[in-house]
Amino acid sequence: MYDVIIIGAGASGMMAAATAASKGARVALLEHKDDIGKKILATGNGRCNFTNTDMSVNRFHGSKALIKNGLSQFDYADTIRFFKKLGIPAYDNAGYIYPNSRQAASVVAAFRMELMRLHVDVKTGIKITEIKAARITAKDTKTTANPSCYCIQTDKGSYESKKLIIACGLTASPKLGSDGSLFRMIEALGHHIQKPMPALCGFSCEGLNFKKITGVRCDATVASLIDGQMTEQNTGELQLADYGISGIPVFQISSLISRALNKGQRVEVIIDFLPAFSDDSLYRYIKDRSTAITDNRSLNEMLNGLLNNKLLLELIHKSGVSPDKKGRLLTDDDCESLTRSIKHTAVSVRKPRGVEFAQVCAGGIYTKEIDVHTLESKIHPGLYFCGELLDVDGICGGYNLQWAWTSGYIAGEMQ
Ligand SMILES: Cc1cc2nc3c(=O)[nH]c(=O)nc-3n(C[C@H](O)[C@H](O)[C@H](O)COP(=O)(O)OP(=O)(O)OC[C@H]3O[C@@H](n4cnc5c(N)ncnc54)[C@H](O)[C@@H]3O)c2cc1C
Repeated sequence: MYDVIIIGAGASGMMAAATAASKGARVALLEHKDDIGKKILATGNGRCNFTNTDMSVNRFHGSKALIKNGLSQFDYADTIRFFKKLGIPAYDNAGYIYPNSRQAASVVAAFRMELMRLHVDVKTGIKITEIKAARITAKDTKTTANPSCYCIQTDKGSYESKKLIIACGLTASPKLGSDGSLFRMIEALGHHIQKPMPALCGFSCEGLNFKKITGVRCDATVASLIDGQMTEQNTGELQLADYGISGIPVFQISSLISRALNKGQRVEVIIDFLPAFSDDSLYRYIKDRSTAITDNRSLNEMLNGLLNNKLLLELIHKSGVSPDKKGRLLTDDDCESLTRSIKHTAVSVRKPRGVEFAQVCAGGIYTKEIDVHTLESKIHPGLYFCGELLDVDGICGGYNLQWAWTSGYIAGEMQ
């Protein structure tokens, strides 16, 4: 009998295992992939942006109660201290924290050594077939000395524990292990899982000829409009693809968009392709160019160099002004339409790209089913959840891993 079994050797599961074992618990960590920490290796383009010094609650979506309670127990400074102890000094790039090696592999290696040092039984390549919880309710725990007991049946035999921590993630990037294969067993325990929604992802859109501008990258501001209401905006390198929009600024506003689409709300994204110009200064620029032109060059030629040429042509088309019109003949209305097209193009958002392309999923176990301070199930004493499986997702910048460390620490501490 183990004190604690943890299912899922991702970021939160390994943190839970290290925390529980460091308090003296006998711990087993069960992972169905052939190795631990597969997703961590892919984080931050292989560099692992593992936390951020700006931990404002508004960097997260989902349950604010979980986030606030969680960060009050284990925040970015605890994370930096934890990794420093494991031999990983932090590299701080304007608040974005990486291992000094800039290698995600260092983080996985450090966990591997720590779990070994703490005698955690790590079992990889194991297929879980059933989770049985002893039939004891939360009420009975007041009178029972050793209330909980879990039996995990697998293709390699069964394992028993007093506590169970489930850290299997949601379904983002399923090839890295988080494939939803445990959901059926979690639901069999009486819990409910809000449908995972891709977040930190691109979106299929309509409103521009995306096939013509695929591959273009440019600095832009994107703002989401949900049922006509402006919700969030972000500026950064926008990536245009044949299906629609992607890139960091889109990721930063993606959680609310995915949640809105899931509710059937109407979503548009307004794109400002020249955030460095105000509306007035862009209007003036176009007007002055037009006035200065004395030859017969076309509008398209006149604005050459302002934006990527494929994109410029598409935005001129969208403005309704002919790209072949002579630059010197532009009217005030033309200048106005061009300004509007370059700085206020609206695309309607159809759907998120699939979970296979998402870095994170929103959704997860309903927060009302767990204690927000301890992450313990309100249905089964001794059962805990952590990581992305809970209804918390963060923007890019180390927030999702911070949530994994925070929630893994809390679940592991409760042994
Ligand atoms: C490409 C990419 C880049 C990212 N970059 C960053 C970044 O730089 N910074 C950041 O903060 N976040 C980043 N993230 C997000 C971050 O990696 C995740 O939010 C975090 O890893 C979630 O941790 P977790 O423990 O909840 O789940 P996961 O890391 O997904 O771990 C779940 C584990 O459970 C295992 N599992 C699942 N089902 C079963 C089962 N049935 N039986 C046994 N084991 C099971 C899985 O194999 C996996 O090992 C990135 C994500 C991706 C995909």
